[in-house]
Amino acid sequence: MPRVIDPDDDIPEEEDEDYEAEEELSEVEPCPICDSPVGECDHLLAAIDRTYSEIESGAIFAHERSILDMIERLVVLGADALKGAGASPALVHAATLIEGDVAGGMNMGDAVSTNFPHLVEALCAMLEEDGEVSVTEGEVDEGGEEAWSYANLWSEDAEGAVERLNRRLQGLLDELE
Ligand SMILES: [Zn+2]
Repeated sequence: MPRVIDPDDDIPEEEDEDYEAEEELSEVEPCPICDSPVGECDHLLAAIDRTYSEIESGAIFAHERSILDMIERLVVLGADALKGAGASPALVHAATLIEGDVAGGMNMGDAVSTNFPHLVEALCAMLEEDGEVSVTEGEVDEGGEEAWSYANLWSEDAEGAVERLNRRLQGLLDELE
């Protein structure tokens, strides 16, 4: 039988990737409350990838879709209405940007998706306004052209902070919708 040569045999790609992943993690700051590495304690409220505006993990992760749905429903109600109801300045700011794009001729759905990074920023800002939240942030240089930027939010009571944000958003919706 002829010997079948796997062309990938001499390229240990997976090992290289694992090695790099560990290197990256070691550059991310540990929990400011208990000093555990990211993902190894219950204090992580939200791990945000700022480069791609993605929520990667944390207590908020399981509620990400429902919370972002509420934020999307709120921003389309307009900056003035949100301001009048006492919404977070970050949410008002996102609504203002969306209004600007709609005034420029964009339809509402496109304006909301174009401004998605601002919705994630508003989400972070509202979590920080909870009061008992610490933030670690930084950049991880992956050796490419652009460094990857992250923000990790921490709280002694991460589940409680998510619950309070849920109630706050629901309260705004009850008042404005
Ligand atoms: Zn911790």
